[in-house]
Amino acid sequence: MITTDIIIIGAGPTGLFAVFEAGLLKLKCHLIDALPQPGGQCSEIYPKKPIYDIPAYPEILAGDLTDKLLEQCKQFEPGFTLGERAETIDKQDDGTFIVTTNKGTKHQAPVVAIASGLGSFEPRKPLLDNITDFEDKGVEYIIKEPELYRGKNVIIAGGGDSALDWSIFLADVAKSVTLVHRRNEFRGHLDSVEKVQELKNSGKINLITPAEITAIIGDDKVEALEITKKDEAPFTLETDHFIPLFGLSPKLGPIANWGLEIEKNAIKVNNALDYQTNIPGIFAIGDGNIYPGKLKLILCGFHEATLMCQAAYKIINPGKRYVLKYTTVAGIDGFDGTRKEAPKAVVKTID
Ligand SMILES: Cc1cc2nc3c(=O)[nH]c(=O)nc-3n(C[C@H](O)[C@H](O)[C@H](O)COP(=O)(O)OP(=O)(O)OC[C@H]3O[C@@H](n4cnc5c(N)ncnc54)[C@H](O)[C@@H]3O)c2cc1C
Repeated sequence: MITTDIIIIGAGPTGLFAVFEAGLLKLKCHLIDALPQPGGQCSEIYPKKPIYDIPAYPEILAGDLTDKLLEQCKQFEPGFTLGERAETIDKQDDGTFIVTTNKGTKHQAPVVAIASGLGSFEPRKPLLDNITDFEDKGVEYIIKEPELYRGKNVIIAGGGDSALDWSIFLADVAKSVTLVHRRNEFRGHLDSVEKVQELKNSGKINLITPAEITAIIGDDKVEALEITKKDEAPFTLETDHFIPLFGLSPKLGPIANWGLEIEKNAIKVNNALDYQTNIPGIFAIGDGNIYPGKLKLILCGFHEATLMCQAAYKIINPGKRYVLKYTTVAGIDGFDGTRKEAPKAVVKTID
């Protein structure tokens, strides 16, 4: 049995930052993630994409953000159970919870923070008979390593931000990029739509709309796709890769059966207070929760993780008063008053 102060389900950016905030309060965390590596969506879906709205980072790759979060929380020595899905939760007579994974690993703590994001996510696949035969043989639903496409012919399908952003990015990497979408209008940001139009005009992207991929052709790897434009006969286009980017189908998975209040596939929380769910001691933070005005953004997950830790402190240390201290004053090992010497504050005097 693994015992800790807070069991965090999900090692995405929210879960990782919660480890740091808990560490400041001298609370230990253990993270469980179904994926084999930490980072959540940032490392699984878009590690090489730049993010522009992380405070103080004008631009940072999602994979680098994961590395930095890991570096920041490492000092608090979190435990990890990776590659295992949290399957069941059982409340004990002493008020603690036992979370068991699909592989039977048991974890016990007085507080559980669900930072499960979109849940166990599955890419939406196009309805093509033989598509599974070509997975990892030229068909990829997620771009993990853009270098794979250097000098190759690539066909991307989709009409949202992912399809647009990757078409723009790969235009400088691949030998050729063809973007196929079943409508003439795209659902992505206006900037991205305009950029794709520019790249089409300069011959760097081949845009085919309104059209759909109707067949995959190849022996043991993708060699060509059959494309059918609306009201026209199908034609064949040779390619090395087919990347359908139709989004993810979010599934809460086993957590949906834990007796938590669920709305729109997310866990309802009390956002006026501490992001606790309808079950005391179980919190939900990050993309996986819902409350009025919720925004699924990394920085919102960081804020929620911070407030959750304050509430967890009160549950784990009943009756003990916590006084908020700045890290600039107390350092990171000085919380709870254990640091002998705080760094000297720089005080500016006004004459
Ligand atoms: C292409 C793309 C671009 C984006 N760009 C931005 C951006 O520019 N700025 C921004 O702020 N946000 C952006 N986002 C959104 C951002 O990635 C999410 O807000 C963020 O990842 C949420 O973090 P999280 O930790 O709450 O959840 P996630 O990152 O989804 O992590 C949740 C983790 O929980 C795990 N999990 C789920 N269920 C279980 C279970 N039962 N047992 C064990 N593990 C489980 C999952 O495997 C996953 O690793 C983008 C998202 C995408 C897809």
